[in-house]
Amino acid sequence: MDLGLTGKKAIVCAASKGLGKASALALAREGVDLVITARNAEALADTAREIEAETGVTVTPVAGDIKTPEGRAAALAACPNPDILVNNAGGPPRGDFRDFTAEDWMAAVNGNMITAIELITAVVDGMMERGFGRIVNITSAAVRQPIHDLCLSNAARAGLTGFVAGLSRETVKHNVTINNILPGPFETERLTGPVRAAGGDVAEAVAKIGAGNPAGRVGQPEEFGDACAFLCSAKSGFITGQNLLLDGGNYRGTM
Ligand code: NAP
Repeated sequence: MDLGLTGKKAIVCAASKGLGKASALALAREGVDLVITARNAEALADTAREIEAETGVTVTPVAGDIKTPEGRAAALAACPNPDILVNNAGGPPRGDFRDFTAEDWMAAVNGNMITAIELITAVVDGMMERGFGRIVNITSAAVRQPIHDLCLSNAARAGLTGFVAGLSRETVKHNVTINNILPGPFETERLTGPVRAAGGDVAEAVAKIGAGNPAGRVGQPEEFGDACAFLCSAKSGFITGQNLLLDGGNYRGTM
């Protein structure tokens, strides 16, 4: 299927690794020029070179913390009128709600709700004027089924989901869609890093998580990237305000 994206421009946030990188690569394979962001400039530049070498599109790395006004301004300066925006940022820490301070809550709401809202606000009117726009927010399966020690994530991402549910119905008649993708367990640094840091066997830990999933495995980043590219495509103009759960069927609800 031709996704109709050749020559479009995208900002993909938090994209030197993991799900952001996979989304950037899937878009690049469809001929989309990219601005990608992450904090570590070296790793980001490596990723930009890797994607350019494979796909031939232009990939501009913009190093910075997307959770800060400066980081967002730098990304927007490099691509002021994107056709596509993929919002992503690192998740907040795990822990018991009793141990978090008001500052911890503010940081989570800033990072996983307000950051995305600020970027949407900066680009959505231009997208509507031009008659094309695709916005995808990478959130979490925790929005559908809260995870007990990820209360910061459960709450902040639910706030973004509520905002998108309203706005996405206002933009769709201008061919601007806004959707969220909710990852379950995917084999990225986010999943494997803590195991490695604790000196554990990564392959064993991944297999154990996968064994408890109806798919018998965890997800691969490429599977996420392809779903993201479809939601960003010219073919998906009638899909808006949705929360697409990519979790191998782990959530047992009927809908
Ligand atoms: P990952 O493999 O650890 O990659 C995170 C990427 O985001 C890196 O490129 C990182 O680069 C960048 N990043 C982190 N914080 C940033 C910031 N403040 N500003 C700019 N870039 C930043 O993580 P992932 O698995 O792809 O996760 C992506 C999102 O999905 C996270 O919010 C995570 O909580 C959520 N999620 C993941 C899973 C999963 O199983 N993988 C499940 C549910 C939800 P730098 O460190 O250099 O900035």
